Amino acid sequence: MDIFDRLKNLIGDESRITRCEKVRAEHSKDCSSYHIGNLPDCVVFPKNVEEIKKIVEFANEGNIPLVPFGLGTSVEGQIVPTRGGISLSFQKMNNIIEVCPEDFYVKVQPGVTRVQLNEELKKYGMFFPVDPGLDATIGGMAATNASGTNAVYYGAMKHQILGLEVVLATGEVIRTGGAYLKSSSGYNLTSLFVGSEGTLGIFTELILKIHSVPRFIMTAKAVFNDVESASHAAIHVLRNNGSVCKLELLDQSTISAINRYKQTSYTELPTLFIEIMENHFTQVKEMLLLSDCCELEVEDIDEKREQLWSIRHEAAFAIKNLFPGKKLMATDVCVPLTILPVAIRNAREVMDRNDMKGSILGHVGDGNFHAVFAVAPFDQGDLERAQHVNNAIVQFALNNGGTCSGEHGIGLGKMNYLEQEHGASVFIMKKIKDMFDPKGILNPGKIFTS
Ligand SMILES: Cc1cc2nc3c(=O)[nH]c(=O)nc-3n(C[C@H](O)[C@H](O)[C@H](O)COP(=O)(O)OP(=O)(O)OC[C@H]3O[C@@H](n4cnc5c(N)ncnc54)[C@H](O)[C@@H]3O)c2cc1C
Repeated sequence: MDIFDRLKNLIGDESRITRCEKVRAEHSKDCSSYHIGNLPDCVVFPKNVEEIKKIVEFANEGNIPLVPFGLGTSVEGQIVPTRGGISLSFQKMNNIIEVCPEDFYVKVQPGVTRVQLNEELKKYGMFFPVDPGLDATIGGMAATNASGTNAVYYGAMKHQILGLEVVLATGEVIRTGGAYLKSSSGYNLTSLFVGSEGTLGIFTELILKIHSVPRFIMTAKAVFNDVESASHAAIHVLRNNGSVCKLELLDQSTISAINRYKQTSYTELPTLFIEIMENHFTQVKEMLLLSDCCELEVEDIDEKREQLWSIRHEAAFAIKNLFPGKKLMATDVCVPLTILPVAIRNAREVMDRNDMKGSILGHVGDGNFHAVFAVAPFDQGDLERAQHVNNAIVQFALNNGGTCSGEHGIGLGKMNYLEQEHGASVFIMKKIKDMFDPKGILNPGKIFTS
Protein backbone atom coordinates (compact mmCIF):
# COMPACT_ATOMS: atom_id res chain seq x y z
CA MET A 1 0.00 0.00 0.00
CA ASP A 2 1.45 3.44 -0.88
CA ILE A 3 1.39 6.65 1.21
CA PHE A 4 -1.86 7.79 -0.39
CA ASP A 5 -3.81 4.62 0.42
CA ARG A 6 -2.41 4.42 3.95
CA LEU A 7 -3.44 8.04 4.62
CA LYS A 8 -6.91 7.36 3.21
CA ASN A 9 -7.33 4.57 5.73
CA LEU A 10 -6.05 6.75 8.56
CA ILE A 11 -8.23 9.80 7.87
CA GLY A 12 -11.24 7.98 6.46
CA ASP A 13 -12.22 10.92 4.24
CA GLU A 14 -10.86 10.61 0.73
CA SER A 15 -11.87 14.16 -0.20
CA ARG A 16 -9.18 15.59 2.07
CA ILE A 17 -6.22 13.64 0.67
CA THR A 18 -5.09 14.17 -2.86
CA ARG A 19 -2.35 13.32 -5.31
CA CYS A 20 -3.91 15.43 -8.05
CA GLU A 21 -1.08 16.95 -10.12
CA LYS A 22 -2.52 20.49 -9.95
CA VAL A 23 -2.91 20.53 -6.15
CA ARG A 24 0.54 18.98 -5.66
CA ALA A 25 2.01 21.67 -7.94
CA GLU A 26 0.29 24.36 -5.84
CA HIS A 27 2.05 22.92 -2.80
CA SER A 28 5.42 22.44 -4.49
CA LYS A 29 6.68 26.02 -4.08
CA ASP A 30 5.83 29.42 -2.70
CA CYS A 31 3.83 32.00 -4.62
CA SER A 32 6.51 34.49 -5.66
CA SER A 33 10.15 33.64 -5.00
CA TYR A 34 12.93 32.37 -7.29
CA HIS A 35 13.22 29.04 -5.42
CA ILE A 36 12.57 26.03 -7.60
CA GLY A 37 9.77 23.74 -6.45
CA ASN A 38 9.47 20.00 -5.94
CA LEU A 39 6.23 18.01 -5.88
CA PRO A 40 5.02 16.39 -2.66
CA ASP A 41 3.75 12.81 -3.05
CA CYS A 42 0.37 13.95 -1.76
CA VAL A 43 -1.40 16.81 0.00
CA VAL A 44 -3.52 16.30 3.11
CA PHE A 45 -6.06 18.74 4.57
CA PRO A 46 -6.53 17.72 8.23
CA LYS A 47 -9.45 19.04 10.28
CA ASN A 48 -8.21 18.69 13.84
CA VAL A 49 -5.34 17.87 16.15
CA GLU A 50 -6.32 14.20 16.40
CA GLU A 51 -5.93 13.75 12.64
CA ILE A 52 -2.59 15.56 12.66
CA LYS A 53 -1.39 13.33 15.47
CA LYS A 54 -2.26 10.24 13.39
CA ILE A 55 -0.58 11.64 10.26
CA VAL A 56 2.58 12.54 12.16
CA GLU A 57 2.79 9.13 13.83
CA PHE A 58 2.40 7.49 10.43
CA ALA A 59 5.07 9.71 8.86
CA ASN A 60 7.48 9.16 11.74
CA GLU A 61 7.05 5.40 11.58
CA GLY A 62 7.68 5.32 7.83
CA ASN A 63 10.37 8.07 7.70
CA ILE A 64 8.13 10.12 5.41
CA PRO A 65 8.89 13.86 5.07
CA LEU A 66 6.13 16.14 6.32
CA VAL A 67 6.00 19.79 5.25
CA PRO A 68 3.46 22.12 6.95
CA PHE A 69 1.85 24.55 4.46
CA GLY A 70 -0.01 27.76 5.38
CA LEU A 71 -0.65 30.02 2.40
CA GLY A 72 2.73 29.55 0.71
CA THR A 73 3.74 33.22 0.86
CA SER A 74 7.11 32.61 2.50
CA VAL A 75 9.99 33.66 0.28
CA GLU A 76 12.97 31.46 1.18
CA GLY A 77 11.71 28.13 -0.14
CA GLN A 78 10.40 27.10 3.28
CA ILE A 79 7.45 25.09 1.95
CA VAL A 80 9.25 23.27 -0.89
CA PRO A 81 8.97 19.52 -0.21
CA THR A 82 12.60 18.98 -1.25
CA ARG A 83 12.32 15.24 -0.51
CA GLY A 84 8.70 14.72 -1.53
CA GLY A 85 6.41 13.22 1.12
CA ILE A 86 3.33 14.84 2.58
CA SER A 87 2.38 18.51 2.29
CA LEU A 88 0.15 19.28 5.28
CA SER A 89 -2.25 22.11 4.47
CA PHE A 90 -4.11 24.00 7.22
CA GLN A 91 -6.81 25.30 4.90
CA LYS A 92 -9.51 23.41 6.82
CA MET A 93 -8.21 24.39 10.27
CA ASN A 94 -9.24 28.04 10.10
CA ASN A 95 -11.49 28.58 13.11
CA ILE A 96 -11.19 31.45 15.52
CA ILE A 97 -11.73 29.47 18.70
CA GLU A 98 -12.14 32.19 21.33
CA VAL A 99 -11.94 35.99 21.41
CA CYS A 100 -11.34 37.45 24.84
CA PRO A 101 -11.01 41.25 24.52
CA GLU A 102 -11.09 41.85 28.28
CA ASP A 103 -8.02 39.67 28.72
CA PHE A 104 -6.40 40.83 25.47
CA TYR A 105 -6.05 37.42 23.87
CA VAL A 106 -7.51 35.27 21.11
CA LYS A 107 -7.22 31.51 20.48
CA VAL A 108 -7.02 30.42 16.85
CA GLN A 109 -6.38 27.41 14.68
CA PRO A 110 -3.24 27.70 12.54
CA GLY A 111 -5.03 28.17 9.20
CA VAL A 112 -6.75 31.41 10.31
CA THR A 113 -5.34 34.26 8.25
CA ARG A 114 -4.39 37.66 9.62
CA VAL A 115 -7.00 39.41 7.43
CA GLN A 116 -9.71 37.00 8.63
CA LEU A 117 -8.65 37.56 12.25
CA ASN A 118 -8.64 41.33 11.95
CA GLU A 119 -12.11 41.31 10.36
CA GLU A 120 -13.37 39.48 13.46
CA LEU A 121 -11.44 41.65 15.92
CA LYS A 122 -12.91 44.83 14.39
CA LYS A 123 -16.20 43.95 16.14
CA TYR A 124 -14.43 44.39 19.47
CA GLY A 125 -12.39 47.52 18.58
CA MET A 126 -9.27 45.35 18.70
CA PHE A 127 -6.65 44.22 16.18
CA PHE A 128 -3.69 41.90 15.65
CA PRO A 129 -0.69 43.98 14.59
CA VAL A 130 1.66 41.64 12.71
CA ASP A 131 1.24 42.45 9.01
CA PRO A 132 3.50 40.80 6.45
CA GLY A 133 2.94 42.29 2.98
CA LEU A 134 0.43 39.64 1.88
CA ASP A 135 -2.32 37.84 3.71
CA ALA A 136 -0.78 34.83 5.50
CA THR A 137 -1.84 32.20 8.03
CA ILE A 138 -1.16 32.67 11.71
CA GLY A 139 0.57 29.24 11.74
CA GLY A 140 2.92 30.22 8.90
CA MET A 141 3.56 33.64 10.43
CA ALA A 142 4.43 32.02 13.76
CA ALA A 143 6.72 29.51 12.07
CA THR A 144 8.68 32.28 10.29
CA ASN A 145 8.52 34.78 13.18
CA ALA A 146 7.00 37.22 10.71
CA SER A 147 6.77 40.94 11.26
CA GLY A 148 5.95 43.91 9.02
CA THR A 149 5.20 47.61 9.25
CA ASN A 150 3.85 47.52 12.82
CA ALA A 151 6.84 45.74 14.34
CA VAL A 152 8.64 48.96 15.26
CA TYR A 153 5.94 49.57 17.89
CA TYR A 154 4.39 46.16 18.63
CA GLY A 155 7.26 43.75 17.88
CA ALA A 156 7.26 40.58 15.75
CA MET A 157 5.23 37.34 16.07
CA LYS A 158 7.53 36.27 18.90
CA HIS A 159 6.17 39.15 20.98
CA GLN A 160 2.51 38.33 20.24
CA ILE A 161 2.35 34.60 20.88
CA LEU A 162 1.33 33.73 24.42
CA GLY A 163 0.94 30.00 23.99
CA LEU A 164 0.93 27.11 21.54
CA GLU A 165 -0.45 23.64 21.10
CA VAL A 166 2.17 21.64 19.21
CA VAL A 167 2.23 18.13 17.75
CA LEU A 168 5.78 16.84 18.03
CA ALA A 169 7.44 14.51 15.50
CA THR A 170 6.58 11.49 17.69
CA GLY A 171 2.87 12.42 17.65
CA GLU A 172 2.96 13.62 21.26
CA VAL A 173 0.84 16.75 21.81
CA ILE A 174 2.20 19.44 24.14
CA ARG A 175 1.10 22.89 25.27
CA THR A 176 3.43 25.79 25.91
CA GLY A 177 2.60 29.10 27.64
CA GLY A 178 -1.03 30.10 28.17
CA ALA A 179 -3.60 32.88 28.11
CA TYR A 180 -1.65 35.20 30.38
CA LEU A 181 0.31 38.26 29.35
CA LYS A 182 3.59 37.37 31.01
CA SER A 183 5.37 34.52 32.73
CA SER A 184 8.77 33.70 34.22
CA SER A 185 7.97 30.05 34.69
CA GLY A 186 10.45 27.55 33.25
CA TYR A 187 12.16 27.56 29.87
CA ASN A 188 10.39 29.61 27.20
CA LEU A 189 9.46 26.83 24.76
CA THR A 190 6.95 29.07 22.98
CA SER A 191 9.79 31.29 21.83
CA LEU A 192 11.81 28.27 20.73
CA PHE A 193 9.01 27.04 18.44
CA VAL A 194 8.28 30.49 16.99
CA GLY A 195 10.56 30.91 13.96
CA SER A 196 11.32 27.17 13.70
CA GLU A 197 9.94 27.03 10.12
CA GLY A 198 8.05 23.77 10.57
CA THR A 199 11.18 21.87 11.61
CA LEU A 200 10.49 21.31 15.34
CA GLY A 201 6.75 20.71 15.59
CA ILE A 202 3.36 21.39 14.07
CA PHE A 203 1.25 24.15 15.59
CA THR A 204 -2.39 23.16 15.99
CA GLU A 205 -3.59 26.03 18.19
CA LEU A 206 -2.14 29.46 18.96
CA ILE A 207 -2.95 31.95 21.73
CA LEU A 208 -2.21 35.48 20.56
CA LYS A 209 -2.02 38.85 22.25
CA ILE A 210 -4.47 41.36 20.76
CA HIS A 211 -4.50 45.16 21.02
CA SER A 212 -6.97 48.04 21.07
CA VAL A 213 -7.16 49.87 17.74
CA PRO A 214 -5.10 53.03 18.28
CA ARG A 215 -6.89 56.36 17.90
CA PHE A 216 -5.57 59.85 17.15
CA ILE A 217 -2.99 58.66 14.64
CA MET A 218 -1.37 60.70 11.88
CA THR A 219 0.42 59.47 8.79
CA ALA A 220 3.17 61.48 7.12
CA LYS A 221 4.79 61.00 3.73
CA ALA A 222 8.17 62.74 3.76
CA VAL A 223 10.30 63.06 0.63
CA PHE A 224 14.10 63.46 0.70
CA ASN A 225 16.73 64.21 -1.92
CA ASP A 226 18.77 61.12 -1.16
CA VAL A 227 18.34 57.83 0.63
CA GLU A 228 20.96 58.55 3.27
CA SER A 229 19.20 61.75 4.40
CA ALA A 230 15.97 59.75 4.57
CA SER A 231 17.50 57.01 6.70
CA HIS A 232 19.29 59.51 8.97
CA ALA A 233 15.95 61.30 9.43
CA ALA A 234 14.27 57.97 10.29
CA ILE A 235 16.81 57.32 13.04
CA HIS A 236 16.49 60.88 14.35
CA VAL A 237 12.69 60.63 14.56
CA LEU A 238 12.91 57.27 16.27
CA ARG A 239 15.50 58.31 18.80
CA ASN A 240 13.59 61.37 19.86
CA ASN A 241 10.10 59.98 19.89
CA GLY A 242 8.71 56.91 21.62
CA SER A 243 5.35 56.94 19.86
CA VAL A 244 6.38 55.97 16.31
CA CYS A 245 3.94 53.26 15.20
CA LYS A 246 5.32 52.67 11.69
CA LEU A 247 8.45 53.89 9.92
CA GLU A 248 9.01 52.70 6.36
CA LEU A 249 11.37 53.75 3.58
CA LEU A 250 10.85 53.42 -0.17
CA ASP A 251 13.76 54.41 -2.39
CA GLN A 252 13.55 56.35 -5.63
CA SER A 253 13.26 53.29 -7.87
CA THR A 254 10.44 51.85 -5.73
CA ILE A 255 8.45 55.09 -6.05
CA SER A 256 9.09 55.08 -9.77
CA ALA A 257 7.85 51.45 -10.00
CA ILE A 258 4.73 52.48 -8.08
CA ASN A 259 4.06 55.40 -10.41
CA ARG A 260 4.22 53.08 -13.37
CA TYR A 261 2.06 50.40 -11.68
CA LYS A 262 -0.61 52.72 -10.27
CA GLN A 263 -0.45 55.42 -12.97
CA THR A 264 0.41 58.00 -10.28
CA SER A 265 2.86 60.87 -10.22
CA TYR A 266 4.45 60.83 -6.78
CA THR A 267 7.79 62.65 -6.59
CA GLU A 268 10.38 60.07 -7.59
CA LEU A 269 12.72 60.51 -4.65
CA PRO A 270 13.38 58.47 -1.46
CA THR A 271 10.31 58.67 0.74
CA LEU A 272 9.59 57.90 4.39
CA PHE A 273 6.13 56.81 5.53
CA ILE A 274 5.64 57.54 9.21
CA GLU A 275 2.74 56.81 11.50
CA ILE A 276 2.69 58.60 14.81
CA MET A 277 0.39 59.59 17.68
CA GLU A 278 -1.28 62.88 16.86
CA ASN A 279 -0.04 64.73 19.97
CA HIS A 280 3.60 64.08 18.97
CA PHE A 281 3.21 65.30 15.46
CA THR A 282 4.40 68.91 15.74
CA GLN A 283 7.70 67.73 17.21
CA VAL A 284 8.17 65.12 14.46
CA LYS A 285 7.33 67.62 11.74
CA GLU A 286 10.05 69.95 13.03
CA MET A 287 12.55 67.09 13.06
CA LEU A 288 11.70 66.11 9.49
CA LEU A 289 12.07 69.63 8.19
CA LEU A 290 15.40 70.03 10.00
CA SER A 291 16.51 66.74 8.40
CA ASP A 292 16.29 68.11 4.84
CA CYS A 293 12.83 66.78 4.06
CA CYS A 294 11.87 68.50 0.81
CA GLU A 295 8.18 67.59 0.63
CA LEU A 296 5.77 66.66 3.43
CA GLU A 297 2.21 65.39 3.22
CA VAL A 298 0.25 64.71 6.40
CA GLU A 299 -3.07 62.94 6.77
CA ASP A 300 -5.23 62.31 9.84
CA ILE A 301 -8.47 61.11 8.24
CA ASP A 302 -8.54 57.29 8.17
CA GLU A 303 -9.47 57.01 4.52
CA LYS A 304 -6.67 59.36 3.43
CA ARG A 305 -4.17 57.62 5.69
CA GLU A 306 -5.10 54.29 4.14
CA GLN A 307 -4.56 55.77 0.68
CA LEU A 308 -1.05 56.79 1.69
CA TRP A 309 -0.32 53.33 3.11
CA SER A 310 -1.59 51.65 -0.04
CA ILE A 311 1.48 53.14 -1.77
CA ARG A 312 3.71 51.19 0.62
CA HIS A 313 1.61 48.03 0.55
CA GLU A 314 1.55 47.75 -3.22
CA ALA A 315 5.30 48.23 -3.56
CA ALA A 316 6.11 44.52 -4.02
CA PHE A 317 3.51 44.14 -6.79
CA ALA A 318 4.79 47.31 -8.46
CA ILE A 319 8.35 45.97 -8.48
CA LYS A 320 7.21 42.60 -9.82
CA ASN A 321 5.27 44.36 -12.55
CA LEU A 322 8.54 45.81 -13.91
CA PHE A 323 9.91 42.34 -14.66
CA PRO A 324 7.19 40.24 -16.30
CA GLY A 325 7.96 36.52 -16.34
CA LYS A 326 10.70 36.79 -13.72
CA LYS A 327 10.67 35.80 -10.05
CA LEU A 328 11.71 37.95 -7.10
CA MET A 329 14.75 37.62 -4.87
CA ALA A 330 14.62 39.79 -1.75
CA THR A 331 17.36 40.36 0.79
CA ASP A 332 16.09 40.77 4.29
CA VAL A 333 18.99 41.93 6.41
CA CYS A 334 18.54 43.75 9.69
CA VAL A 335 21.36 45.91 11.02
CA PRO A 336 21.92 48.11 14.07
CA LEU A 337 20.13 51.40 13.38
CA THR A 338 23.32 53.47 13.22
CA ILE A 339 24.62 51.21 10.42
CA LEU A 340 21.40 51.52 8.40
CA PRO A 341 22.26 54.55 6.18
CA VAL A 342 25.58 53.09 5.08
CA ALA A 343 24.12 49.57 4.68
CA ILE A 344 21.45 50.92 2.32
CA ARG A 345 24.03 52.94 0.38
CA ASN A 346 26.23 49.85 0.12
CA ALA A 347 23.28 47.76 -1.17
CA ARG A 348 22.56 50.29 -3.91
CA GLU A 349 26.25 50.48 -4.91
CA VAL A 350 26.50 46.68 -5.11
CA MET A 351 23.37 46.54 -7.27
CA ASP A 352 24.62 49.30 -9.60
CA ARG A 353 28.10 47.77 -9.91
CA ASN A 354 26.54 44.49 -11.01
CA ASP A 355 24.00 46.13 -13.29
CA MET A 356 21.25 44.60 -11.16
CA LYS A 357 18.03 46.58 -11.57
CA GLY A 358 15.92 46.59 -8.44
CA SER A 359 14.44 48.49 -5.56
CA ILE A 360 15.25 49.09 -1.92
CA LEU A 361 12.53 49.40 0.67
CA GLY A 362 11.96 48.37 4.19
CA HIS A 363 10.97 48.54 7.78
CA VAL A 364 13.74 50.98 8.58
CA GLY A 365 12.44 51.70 12.08
CA ASP A 366 13.75 48.22 12.94
CA GLY A 367 16.94 48.51 10.86
CA ASN A 368 15.41 45.94 8.47
CA PHE A 369 15.41 46.55 4.71
CA HIS A 370 14.88 44.64 1.47
CA ALA A 371 16.84 44.95 -1.74
CA VAL A 372 14.44 43.37 -4.25
CA PHE A 373 15.47 42.28 -7.71
CA ALA A 374 14.11 40.01 -10.41
CA VAL A 375 15.67 36.78 -11.52
CA ALA A 376 15.04 34.03 -14.06
CA PRO A 377 15.51 30.95 -11.82
CA PHE A 378 16.37 28.61 -14.70
CA ASP A 379 18.95 30.97 -16.24
CA GLN A 380 22.14 29.96 -14.42
CA GLY A 381 24.02 33.17 -15.27
CA ASP A 382 21.16 35.40 -14.12
CA LEU A 383 20.73 33.39 -10.94
CA GLU A 384 24.43 33.51 -10.10
CA ARG A 385 24.59 37.27 -10.62
CA ALA A 386 21.58 37.79 -8.34
CA GLN A 387 23.07 35.47 -5.72
CA HIS A 388 26.35 37.38 -5.90
CA VAL A 389 24.55 40.68 -5.20
CA ASN A 390 22.44 39.10 -2.47
CA ASN A 391 25.55 37.64 -0.85
CA ALA A 392 27.42 40.97 -0.88
CA ILE A 393 24.50 42.69 0.88
CA VAL A 394 24.25 39.94 3.49
CA GLN A 395 28.02 39.90 4.07
CA PHE A 396 27.98 43.64 4.69
CA ALA A 397 25.25 43.19 7.31
CA LEU A 398 27.03 40.28 9.01
CA ASN A 399 30.33 42.15 9.06
CA ASN A 400 28.61 45.09 10.72
CA GLY A 401 26.78 43.36 13.54
CA GLY A 402 23.57 42.56 11.66
CA THR A 403 21.57 39.42 10.84
CA CYS A 404 20.97 37.75 7.45
CA SER A 405 17.21 37.66 8.10
CA GLY A 406 15.09 40.21 9.95
CA GLU A 407 11.76 38.53 9.18
CA HIS A 408 11.70 36.09 6.24
CA GLY A 409 13.61 33.23 7.87
CA ILE A 410 16.30 30.86 6.59
CA GLY A 411 14.46 28.18 4.56
CA LEU A 412 16.64 27.07 1.65
CA GLY A 413 17.89 30.52 0.70
CA LYS A 414 19.97 31.57 3.70
CA MET A 415 21.29 28.27 5.03
CA ASN A 416 24.86 29.20 4.10
CA TYR A 417 24.88 32.14 6.53
CA LEU A 418 23.77 30.36 9.67
CA GLU A 419 27.21 29.33 10.94
CA GLN A 420 28.80 32.60 9.99
CA GLU A 421 26.14 34.45 11.96
CA HIS A 422 25.73 32.16 14.97
CA GLY A 423 29.04 30.30 15.20
CA ALA A 424 29.12 27.48 17.74
CA SER A 425 25.49 27.92 18.75
CA VAL A 426 24.42 26.28 15.46
CA PHE A 427 25.66 23.07 17.08
CA ILE A 428 23.13 23.60 19.91
CA MET A 429 20.39 24.35 17.36
CA LYS A 430 21.12 21.06 15.59
CA LYS A 431 21.02 19.19 18.92
CA ILE A 432 17.61 20.72 19.62
CA LYS A 433 16.41 19.66 16.16
CA ASP A 434 17.69 16.10 16.75
CA MET A 435 15.99 15.94 20.12
CA PHE A 436 12.59 17.10 18.83
CA ASP A 437 12.76 15.26 15.51
CA PRO A 438 15.26 12.37 15.73
CA LYS A 439 14.30 10.92 12.33
CA GLY A 440 14.35 14.31 10.59
CA ILE A 441 10.86 14.02 9.10
CA LEU A 442 9.69 17.60 9.83
CA ASN A 443 10.37 19.92 6.88
CA PRO A 444 13.70 18.24 6.06
CA GLY A 445 16.48 20.06 4.23
CA LYS A 446 15.66 23.50 5.67
CA ILE A 447 17.63 25.85 7.93
CA PHE A 448 20.73 23.59 8.25
CA THR A 449 23.01 22.64 5.36
CA SER A 450 23.65 19.22 6.95
C1 LIG B 1 5.00 40.39 -1.43
C2 LIG B 1 5.42 39.79 -0.13
C3 LIG B 1 5.61 40.63 0.98
C4 LIG B 1 6.00 40.08 2.21
N1 LIG B 1 6.19 40.92 3.26
C5 LIG B 1 6.58 40.41 4.45
C6 LIG B 1 6.78 41.27 5.57
O1 LIG B 1 6.64 42.48 5.49
N2 LIG B 1 7.15 40.70 6.74
C7 LIG B 1 7.32 39.34 6.88
O2 LIG B 1 7.65 38.88 7.98
N3 LIG B 1 7.15 38.51 5.83
C8 LIG B 1 6.77 39.00 4.64
N4 LIG B 1 6.59 38.16 3.57
C9 LIG B 1 6.80 36.71 3.75
C10 LIG B 1 5.55 35.88 4.18
O3 LIG B 1 4.36 36.56 3.98
C11 LIG B 1 5.74 35.36 5.59
O4 LIG B 1 6.87 34.51 5.66
C12 LIG B 1 4.50 34.62 6.17
O5 LIG B 1 4.72 34.60 7.55
C13 LIG B 1 4.28 33.19 5.66
O6 LIG B 1 2.98 32.76 6.04
P1 LIG B 1 2.20 31.62 5.20
O7 LIG B 1 0.90 31.36 5.85
O8 LIG B 1 2.16 31.95 3.78
O9 LIG B 1 3.16 30.38 5.49
P2 LIG B 1 3.84 29.37 4.46
O10 LIG B 1 4.62 30.11 3.48
O11 LIG B 1 2.83 28.42 3.96
O12 LIG B 1 4.83 28.60 5.47
C14 LIG B 1 5.88 29.27 6.07
C15 LIG B 1 6.61 28.33 7.03
O13 LIG B 1 5.74 28.00 8.11
C16 LIG B 1 5.62 26.59 8.27
N5 LIG B 1 4.27 26.36 8.80
C17 LIG B 1 3.10 26.74 8.23
N6 LIG B 1 2.09 26.39 9.03
C18 LIG B 1 2.63 25.78 10.11
C19 LIG B 1 2.07 25.17 11.29
N7 LIG B 1 0.77 25.15 11.53
N8 LIG B 1 2.94 24.61 12.17
C20 LIG B 1 4.27 24.64 11.96
N9 LIG B 1 4.84 25.19 10.87
C21 LIG B 1 4.03 25.76 9.96
C22 LIG B 1 5.92 26.04 6.89
O14 LIG B 1 6.37 24.71 6.92
C23 LIG B 1 7.01 26.99 6.42
O15 LIG B 1 8.24 26.59 6.95
C24 LIG B 1 6.20 38.67 2.33
C25 LIG B 1 5.98 37.85 1.23
C26 LIG B 1 5.61 38.39 0.01
C27 LIG B 1 5.40 37.45 -1.15
